[in-house]
Formats: sequence, structure tokens, C-alpha cells
Amino acid sequence: MGLLSLARVRSPWLLHFDCGSCNGCDIEILACLTPVYDVERFGIVNMGNPKHADLLVVTGPANRRSARVLENLYEQMPRPKIVVAVGACACSGGVFHACPNVLGGVDKVVPVDIYVPGCAARPEAIIDGIVLGLGRLNGNGKRDGAAAPGQS
Ligand code: SF4
Repeated sequence: MGLLSLARVRSPWLLHFDCGSCNGCDIEILACLTPVYDVERFGIVNMGNPKHADLLVVTGPANRRSARVLENLYEQMPRPKIVVAVGACACSGGVFHACPNVLGGVDKVVPVDIYVPGCAARPEAIIDGIVLGLGRLNGNGKRDGAAAPGQS
């Protein structure tokens, strides 16, 4: 692993996008940033600019209104980049899957590396998913296939 990749893995910058969630999973992500769960101990910084982000953390289902925005954010992120789908809605559409404007999980729009299930996803599971994603920032953007916390 080169110096750039090492720095990226040791201090990843994270972009959070709410694709249309009920806000339940977003609150759990915010909990990860509080001193109780303290994701900064992994060097993770919450970042508002996709051009500086290594990790895209998405909540809520892909839908017709937000799909283009999600795709746009993903395209602006430098490679290698990791996408973490947080919550049942982001993984598969969840409770919104039958809605007419819902396309399904966010993998209908962007490639997802890590799926974190749950409604809402627990902070421990979100942190597990992000740390699993960091293991995939291998410096060349190569994808080894999608995974979920608890899987190797
Ligand atoms: S998975 Fe549950 S808590 Fe999370 S956005 Fe969907 S409905 Fe809300």
C-alpha cells in the first residue's frame, strides 16, 4: 500500500447523502459522530464536499427525484471511492420499495460496496460497515464484491 493509500485509509473523509430516508438512519449516523461512538478515533472526518470524500454513506431508497443528485455526487468523488448503503431502505428500498417514485436500493444508481442492514441501522453496525469499507480502499479502486458487516 502506497503512502497516499495509507493516508486515505488512516484518515478517510466521509460524505453523507440522504437519498430520501425517514431520517431514522441519519440520526444513527449523527450518533456515530458524537463522543459516545466517536468515529473520529478512526480518523474519519465528516465532509460536505464530494471532491474531497473517500467514502459515500447513503441513507434512504433511490428514487426518481434524488437519483441524478446521487449519481452526480458519486461521479465527483475521486477514485478509489467506497459506497456504504446504510439501512434497509438504502440496501433494498425497505419500507418504501413499493412506492411509485422509488427505484429500489441505492445500488440501482451507484455501485455499492458495503450494505449495512437494519431499520434503523445501529451505530455499531454503521461503524462496522465503514471500517469494512476502509479495508477496501486498496489504492487502485479495485472492487472485491459487495459485503455486509459480519462477512469477510
Ligand atoms: S431503514 Fe428504517 S430508519 Fe432507516 S431510513 Fe428506512 S425506514 Fe427510516
